Amino acid sequence: MTEDRAGARAEIGVIGGSGLYALLDDVVEVPVDTPYGAPSDSVFLGEVAGRRVAFLPRHGRAHAIPPHRINYRANLWALHALGVRQVLGPCAVGGLRPEYGPGTLLVPDQFVDRTAARAQTFYDGEPLPDGSVPGVVHAPMADPYCPAGRAAVLGAARGAGWEPVDGGTLVVIEGPRFSTRAESRWFTANGWSTVGMTGHPEAVLARELALCYTSLNLVTDLDAGVESGAGVTHAEVLEVFGRNVDRLRTVLFEALAALPTVRACPCRQALDGFAPGLPGVPGE
Ligand SMILES: [Zn+2]
Repeated sequence: MTEDRAGARAEIGVIGGSGLYALLDDVVEVPVDTPYGAPSDSVFLGEVAGRRVAFLPRHGRAHAIPPHRINYRANLWALHALGVRQVLGPCAVGGLRPEYGPGTLLVPDQFVDRTAARAQTFYDGEPLPDGSVPGVVHAPMADPYCPAGRAAVLGAARGAGWEPVDGGTLVVIEGPRFSTRAESRWFTANGWSTVGMTGHPEAVLARELALCYTSLNLVTDLDAGVESGAGVTHAEVLEVFGRNVDRLRTVLFEALAALPTVRACPCRQALDGFAPGLPGVPGE
């Protein structure tokens, strides 16, 4: 723990763009190091509706880290180390159905992992710097997202007049390229809903730390197989995300206020039955 981090605590984490906390007063920048290396950036602590919130720009503040190079383990570890027990993870996605056009907010209840080369577990048999070796852990993942977090986000979106899609399957691809039409059509044919590049392994690593994790999918484009156009472009993604960042922030802040102060969801018991786990996990 660095001196800068002494006393720096938060209860809720938000992994998303810097636009989400840019308007907050009294944001404190806290550098955090972890046994897995440096997170994407400093963690930015602020207060929303009386809740202590840690914001972490997933791609770094300069948006320079591509999805497949993000140090997901360091990001989740840093939040946990600051006391975070509930995480909201907004991300830009492609819609896999015509009705999920740009501007759709979907709160998935499932994901499919199509990534290929990411460190996706804290329990890989390697000793930590403190010499301890975590045991073998097979985190339960049948329902990867926190039910209380999903309810808070869905309620916040409805309250803001942004009718969300309740449930669906997020396909996470390795990137950084977008999907081919064939891949995209295959995803749609399987009944999946959205496609993105960052949802995995965030949810898995959160579960391995017994954290609550809720994914928010902001649709920025229809994926390549859904319409007969040129497919998605990066400029298109940025334009739609920029247009929606204000109301996404509104929904996030309302959801932060609505998250339970005492967890009664199953997430905190995710590691029950496994021992020894990681030091400090699951925490209070
Ligand atoms: Zn939970």
